[in-house]
Amino acid sequence: MTPGEAAAEISSGQLNNFDKRLQRERYDLRKSKIEIIQVNVGKLCNQTCVHCHVDAGPSRQEIMSRETVKAVLGLIQKFGVGTVDITGGAPELNPHFDYLVEQSCLLGCRVIDRCNLTVFFEHGKDYLPEFLARHGVEVAASLPCYSRENVDKQRGKGVFDKSVEALLWLNRLGYGKKDTGLLLNLVYNPVGHYLPPNQNDLEADYKERLLEDFGIVFNRLFTITNMPISRFASSLIATKRYQEYRELLINNFNPATLDGLMCRNMLSIGWDGRLFDCDFNQMLDMAMAGQPGEKPLTVHNLDTVSLAERPVDTGRHCFGCTAGNGSSCGGSVL
Ligand code: SF4
Ligand code: SF4
Repeated sequence: MTPGEAAAEISSGQLNNFDKRLQRERYDLRKSKIEIIQVNVGKLCNQTCVHCHVDAGPSRQEIMSRETVKAVLGLIQKFGVGTVDITGGAPELNPHFDYLVEQSCLLGCRVIDRCNLTVFFEHGKDYLPEFLARHGVEVAASLPCYSRENVDKQRGKGVFDKSVEALLWLNRLGYGKKDTGLLLNLVYNPVGHYLPPNQNDLEADYKERLLEDFGIVFNRLFTITNMPISRFASSLIATKRYQEYRELLINNFNPATLDGLMCRNMLSIGWDGRLFDCDFNQMLDMAMAGQPGEKPLTVHNLDTVSLAERPVDTGRHCFGCTAGNGSSCGGSVL
């Protein structure tokens, strides 16, 4: 699905297939209390992974400004949000990343850094592991496999070896170890056009293999379903598997996942300050609208509107969150 298709689906005023499915289930998908603010600080990244739903890369210019970061912090304070989940791109490449982390910590928030691991080896970024540890930041690190071949195929040549080095570095600082309070969670997504396997079983495999092969320890493994949008959609289209993958998601729709969908208690903020129900909607440009005829909601004008009980903006991509055991930024929903 492209942003253009998403816009056409919304402006048609007709129910999309996901809404129709919700209707059949008699399920009303609405926002509950906002507990997590996910801040996408920009699309700049040192990698260009095949499955990336952000289309991130080294040439992207979209970066959250200091002014917007300050407005985000104001929102966090106003909502009394418990968790600040920082993503990108490689969020650490944003020059205001440290400020956002430090200020969020001062507000008493749990802070998550969605880290690609290789960023530690970028010029001037070797202070990051100690910085994260000093602030007690939870690291959610991408590692789609414990094999070099699969990781390098999806994320680029040499990424696996750097990832191993980075994980060992984090371990040395106490990450992933008992009683340190420094959480190191790994994020798995399939390297192909299939659903993730059972999260607990895969976590056990990862723990065994990473410990045996490299001496790496970590806390939890999160399995995430690949969303058929942006770069992953392009790769599916190029290999003529787009339709097949969409059908896989639809055929595996599981109503038991609906109560756990992350869009219910999360607010997603784009690099330019616009608000979204989730990061996927953000990439499809499905910004939250204000009152009819008004501009999209942003961190600057949210005052006027209450988010409580607001219906979630959905599209056919949402089947990516409800297939099988479900998928969210915190892993399997069930
Ligand atoms: S998946 Fe993550 S690491 Fe890979 S290009 Fe996208 S933002 Fe960068
Ligand atoms: S993509 Fe997933 S998280 Fe986003 S609105 Fe749809 S169901 Fe909710």
